[in-house]
This record gives sequence, C-alpha cells and structure tokens, in this order.
Amino acid sequence: RARGEARHRLAFYDDALGQWQRHQSRLERELRDAISRREFRLYLQPQFAAGGRLHGAEALLRWMHPERGLLGPGDFIAEAEHCRLIQPIGDWVLEETLALLAGPLRDTDLMLAVNVSVQQLRDPDFPARVEALLQSHALPPHRLVLEVVESLLVTPGVMPRLASLHALGLSIALDDFGTGYSSLRYLQELEVDEIKLDKVFLDPLKLRQDAPLARSIIALARALGLRLVAEGVETADQADFLRRQGVTLMQGYYLARPEPKDIFLRRLDA
Ligand code: C2E
Ligand code: MG
Ligand code: MG
Ligand code: MG
Repeated sequence: RARGEARHRLAFYDDALGQWQRHQSRLERELRDAISRREFRLYLQPQFAAGGRLHGAEALLRWMHPERGLLGPGDFIAEAEHCRLIQPIGDWVLEETLALLAGPLRDTDLMLAVNVSVQQLRDPDFPARVEALLQSHALPPHRLVLEVVESLLVTPGVMPRLASLHALGLSIALDDFGTGYSSLRYLQELEVDEIKLDKVFLDPLKLRQDAPLARSIIALARALGLRLVAEGVETADQADFLRRQGVTLMQGYYLARPEPKDIFLRRLDA
C-alpha cells in the first residue's frame, strides 16, 4: 500500500512538473515570435525635475499577448532571461528608445533610461552593439541612461563591460539603489552617474520616522556628486519630503504612470 501511495504521489509531482514545463516551453515559443509579430510595446514613465519640468522618461517593456492581453515585465522577463531571449528583446528596447531620441525627441534635451539585465551585460559584444546603434542614429550618447541593479556589479566580467559602456559617454544609473547586495566601494570603482532611490525607503511609515535611510542615500548621492532620481513616488507627502531634502528628480504614480509611447510624445506639444 505504502509503495502504491508513493507511486501515486510521484505521479502527481511528475504531472505538476510536466504542466510547469509545458507552460514554460509554450511561453518560450511565444516569446520567440513576439518580436517578429510586433507584440512588444514601449511604455514610458515620465520623470520630472523641479517645478514640474519634464526631465525625461524610463522605458518600460510591455507585451501585448494575443490571448492574455497586456503583460508587464514580471510576467515574462525572468523566462526571457532563462531562455536567452533577453538579448534580442533588450536590443529591441534599445533600438526603439534610440529611435525616439533620434526622431521625435531630437530637438529636446530629454533623457531616456533603459533597463539592462545581467544577461545582456554578460554578452561581450554588448558595448559594441550599443556603440553601433548610437552611431547609426547619429546620436550624442549623453541622453541615454542605462539602468542596472547593484547585484549585477558583483557578477564576474560585468564591471569592465560597464566601464566600456560608460566610456561611450552614456549614463549609468544604479536602479533600486539600497535594496541589493553590494558594497559602497562599487560607487567609486564604477563610474556611476545616477542613483535611483528605491520606493521602499519612502513608505509612509518610514516617512513618519523621518526616513533616515532615504536621507542618508540622498546625502550620499550629493557627497559623490551623483544625480538622484526618486522612484515610486506615490503621494504628495512623499514628494514634499523629497523636495525638503533637495531632491528635484522624481518618478512615480503620483506624477505619472507608465504610458504608451504615443501618449508620452503628446507631452511635447503641451
Ligand atoms: P524598475 O526598473 O525598478 O522600474 C520601476 C517599476 O516600478 C516599473 O514596474 C514601474 O511601473 C513601477 N512604478 C513606477 N512608479 C511607481 C509607483 O509610484 N508605485 C509603484 N508601486 N510602482 C511604480 P514595471 O514596468 O512592472 O517593471 C518592473 C521591472 O521590470 C522594472 O523595475 C525593471 O527591473 C524590469 N524591466 C522593465 N522593462 C524592462 C526592459 O526593457 N528590460 C529589462 N531587462 N527589464 C525591464
Ligand atoms: Mg529601472
Ligand atoms: Mg527601480
Ligand atoms: Mg525594480
């Protein structure tokens, strides 16, 4: 009887695993075709400077899935990284972003930021591809920001690659700053230009306690001469707190949600 039960349980797990694997391989197949089927969408979340002036935007990837509707990166980025599709997908995001900078945004001074994953930076050809893209669009590099997470800095081989990207003249931003595992030493070793203050440091409870970590990170950015963008700003209280601390660059639902590229471009007319 016991053996029968064990076999039954095994069959159950086998089946669950099988289902999971079928789901993953289907997702992989669909992801593989998503570029050629033009299913990806570039959303842009505005970033504002002092006085509500538009500073730029962060490019955020969406997938218009034929059956499941609009998906966010949480639904597919991990799988894209796992099956090495993040490279062509990341190239698409870069290409779209640079086309915006070279086209409708050419005569502005707006900055556009792109998220870059560790898999992309593992690729030794990545800096050369970015350089070629910048050249083919005849773009000055300083209006492009590459956002990386801290944990990426401890990945072997990635630091020199970031250095060659930085040497192209673009900006490097540390995303979700303060939430990962890394040492402050990296701020000196790597030529970082920008810190993105993560929203966890601005939650209402912490604001009530005067947000010592947020204030420290803001002071750190200032001491190092780095640009600081506060992300995930959801309330007037948070924005007031940040302004009191002298933070001028903000991004968050309180100011604007991520919006389709065309909607963002209408802001230029206003
Ligand atoms: P992230 O780079 O930290 O982007 C900020 C995320 O916070 C975005 O989620 C944005 O929609 C969300 N957000 C913005 N303002 C607020 C706010 O006020 N409150 C809250 N609660 N959330 C806010 P999203 O678009 O779902 O992206 C999630 C993550 O996926 C991004 O985090 C980024 O790490 C990754 N991602 C997005 N696009 C790309 C891409 O093109 N390539 C790669 N490799 N990763 C991407
Ligand atoms: Mg980001
Ligand atoms: Mg972030
Ligand atoms: Mg994040």
